[in-house]
Amino acid sequence: MTTLTKEAGAPAPAGSGPLLSVRDLHVSFKTEDGVVRAVDGLSFDLERGRTLGIVGESGSGKSVTNLTILGLHNPMFTTVEGEILLDGRELTTARESELEKLRGNKVAMIFQDPLTALSPYYTVGRQIAEPYMKHNGASKKAAWERAVEMLGKVGIPNPRERAKDYPHQFSGGMRQRAMIAMALVCDPDLLIADEPTTALDVTVQAQILDLLKDLQQEFGSGIIFITHDLGVIADMADDIMVMYAGGAVERGTVDEVLRSPRHPYTWGLLNSMPRLDSDLGAQLSPIPGTPPSLLTPPPGCRFHPRCTFQDRVEGTGRCVRERPLMAPDRASACHLTEDQKRTIFMEEIKPRLG
Ligand code: SF4
Repeated sequence: MTTLTKEAGAPAPAGSGPLLSVRDLHVSFKTEDGVVRAVDGLSFDLERGRTLGIVGESGSGKSVTNLTILGLHNPMFTTVEGEILLDGRELTTARESELEKLRGNKVAMIFQDPLTALSPYYTVGRQIAEPYMKHNGASKKAAWERAVEMLGKVGIPNPRERAKDYPHQFSGGMRQRAMIAMALVCDPDLLIADEPTTALDVTVQAQILDLLKDLQQEFGSGIIFITHDLGVIADMADDIMVMYAGGAVERGTVDEVLRSPRHPYTWGLLNSMPRLDSDLGAQLSPIPGTPPSLLTPPPGCRFHPRCTFQDRVEGTGRCVRERPLMAPDRASACHLTEDQKRTIFMEEIKPRLG
C-alpha cells in the first residue's frame, strides 16, 4: 500500500522553484522473500530546461525512482515515503485521477522499447493524436493534424502518409521517433527518458540524441535521462546523479563529475568504460564484485564490499558501521575527506583514465 506522508497542499506558484524536487524518497516492495528497499533516502532537484542524467548499474534504483515520479508503481505492493514535488504539487499524495491527468500532459516518458508503449492495433497517428485530444479537448481532426505535425518535427519523412501506418510498418529508429512525438505532443514540462537509445544502432542512437536536444530547446522541458552509459550522459546532460544500491552517491554538473569525480564508485564506472582513444589492446577494469541485494543491503556504506579505498578512511571500520550522507550541493556520499578524494583522483585514478 502507498504510505501517505504529507497532506496534499495547494501547489506553489508555477515557476517559483525547481521544476521537480525529490526529498528523502524511500520506495520499497513486498516480495515473497522480504522487503526490497529499492530507493532509500534519495533527494534531488531538476530545474526547468535542464537535463539531469541518472547513471548507475541495474538495480541502482534509477528506473524505480522515475516510475514512482510517474505514479506507475503498484500501490498494492509498494510503499512510498518522502516528497515528490512537481511544480510545487505533491505527487506522493496525489489521487490516481490527478496523476492520470499529469501523465502525458505535464510529465511524459520515453521507454527503451517503443513496442511496449505503442499498441500494434492502432495507427501511429491515432496513438499520437489520442493524448492530445484527451488533455487538450481538441477535435479529432485538430488532433490528427497535430500528430502529423509532430511526426514531421521528429523527422519522419512524408508524415501525412506515414501517420496512417501501424507501428510494425516503422523501422526501430522510426518507432523511437514516433514515441518521442507521442511523449512531446502535449508539450510536457518534464520528460523522462529511460535508456531511450540502448536498443538502437550507433548511428540511429546519435540521431535520436540530437533530436532530443533540439526538441528540448524548442519545448523547454526538463529532462531526466536514465542510462548506464557515461558517454551518452556527457553528450546529453547538464547535471549528473550517480546512483548505487538505491541512493545517490555523487551529484554535480557534467563537467564536475566527469572531470573531477569524488566517489570511488564513479571512479570505478569511469575505469570500466571503453574509450575511443585508448589502445586497441587496452584492458578495461570492471568494478570488482556485484551490486548488493536490496533485500539485505550491507550496513554502513553500501559500496563498502566492493570499495578498495575504505582503509584510507580515518576511524577503523567506519565505512562498515556508518552510512555516509550526501551534502545538498556538489557532493559525494563517502567518508574520505575532500582532500583525499581530490588527491586520490589526481594521482591514482586520472593517470589510468588517460
Ligand atoms: Fe569506499 Fe568508505 Fe567511501 Fe564507501 S565511504 S565509498 S566504502 S571509502
